[in-house]
Amino acid sequence: MALKDAKSGLRNEAGIAAVLGILKQSFGERFQTGESFRAQHAHTTTYIPAQLPDGVLFAETADDVKAAVRVCAEHKVPLIGFGTGSSLEGQVNAPNGGISIDFSRMNRVLEVNAEDLDCTVEPGITREELNVYLRDTGLFFPIDPGANASIGGMASTRASGTNAVRYGTMKDNVLSVTAVTANGEEVRTARRARKSSAGYDMTRLFVGSEGTLGILTSVTLRLQGIPQKIGGGVCAFPTIKAACDAVIMTIQMGIPVARIELLDALQIKCCNAYSNLDYEETPTLFLEFHGTDETVALQSQQFAEIATECGGGEFLWTVNAEERAKLWKARHNAYWASRALAPELAALSTDVCVPISRLADCITETQADIEANGLLAMIVGHAGDGNFHVLVLFDDKTSEGISAVENFVARLNARALEMDGTCTGEHGIGQGKMSFLEQELGGTVDLMRQVKRSLDPDNIFNPGKIFHLG
Ligand SMILES: Cc1cc2nc3c(=O)[nH]c(=O)nc-3n(C[C@H](O)[C@H](O)[C@H](O)COP(=O)(O)OP(=O)(O)OC[C@H]3O[C@@H](n4cnc5c(N)ncnc54)[C@H](O)[C@@H]3O)c2cc1C
Repeated sequence: MALKDAKSGLRNEAGIAAVLGILKQSFGERFQTGESFRAQHAHTTTYIPAQLPDGVLFAETADDVKAAVRVCAEHKVPLIGFGTGSSLEGQVNAPNGGISIDFSRMNRVLEVNAEDLDCTVEPGITREELNVYLRDTGLFFPIDPGANASIGGMASTRASGTNAVRYGTMKDNVLSVTAVTANGEEVRTARRARKSSAGYDMTRLFVGSEGTLGILTSVTLRLQGIPQKIGGGVCAFPTIKAACDAVIMTIQMGIPVARIELLDALQIKCCNAYSNLDYEETPTLFLEFHGTDETVALQSQQFAEIATECGGGEFLWTVNAEERAKLWKARHNAYWASRALAPELAALSTDVCVPISRLADCITETQADIEANGLLAMIVGHAGDGNFHVLVLFDDKTSEGISAVENFVARLNARALEMDGTCTGEHGIGQGKMSFLEQELGGTVDLMRQVKRSLDPDNIFNPGKIFHLG
């Protein structure tokens, strides 16, 4: 179960002591061992107990990373990459201690090739910083997890967000990475060509590997042109099933929706209270269309007809930038809006993803489960991808509270797998979902172990994540 997976205890005390001495001498103030620094670099936004690293290196260049990897490799000490620490499954915890490499000072844009619609950045830049930088080029980077995460962290968790239904996930938007591997050398996984059949796809091996195969020192990304016109709107539905039917019909008809997000009634209630809104408190879709005046109007009209056919209310849409921003700010604040409902409780945010035709069943059964077990939980879905999050508010001070939430997560994952879905559409495995990965992929996890052993024989890169080596 999730919390039990978080416990470990294989610390290499002598190696850690040696590495602390060497890094302090080499990096001075850029290497910190104080408790507050270490605590900041273990988890803050998850229910999994924090496991602190022994020191934090504020890397400024790829050479810093190479030096740290070489020292840690020599002494067999763990290294854990740290972007902004917003991952949700215990990914930046240090169960065996070791060194956290903080990338906040490696946040430069290295190049923008506007004519090729790509750019190369250091891993610590956040998605919002990148989009501010790109604004004058007419380009933008579309992947938008709810947090203002770093590009290195997003690549490492294979993140996505509300725009994935149109622009894909990090899997589709990373063209290449440079990574420092266990021998301390930097490799580049691909050039900038849009397509390539050149050997194994090492880029996609690193994307989603959660820092377990090497440390990313740069990421080359696809960019998109800022759409000439953006329209957004909200539509209320009487039931989850009606809202999901509208989503399925929209996708099946090939309407190129840019965002189509589902919020259940409790989530809408939280957003109303937190963001001072007055939406009807029933299952609701938030939508966005990208294109020209004509295509945005046409797509909005087509969706309005689908919504009516599925029993939805009026589709209220706008091209006014301020109104749209308010709508999406409320959506992006959904996590904090939910936490505000019961600040005294702990929160678990978990995600699963199913084939879109099973989305309504999966969410409806999950809601019934929440009700039957007396849980306080709300659902938000990247519905166009069949991906949804459940945020459970629970008492983490009692064993009953913890086991109720663990049992719920186990049932949720079993349900998604039974529908041929996955235990995570975007948050990754970290420590929290290791057992579900085994259930989902069985023997394929052994192949992953073989890859890990081959690239990282001493298990220095983020040990105790994704799977146990056994
Ligand atoms: C409110 C909220 C909403 C969220 N919504 C979404 C969402 O909609 N979609 C989604 O996908 N996620 C979402 N998340 C989860 C989170 O934002 C993503 O997992 C994000 O990709 C993590 O990025 P980060 O920079 O915070 O990475 P971190 O948490 O710092 O690290 C994540 C992983 O990447 C590794 N890593 C970081 N940098 C490097 C590097 N340079 N080299 C090698 N490994 C590295 C770390 O070791 C760790 O394993 C949400 C989180 C919160 C708190």
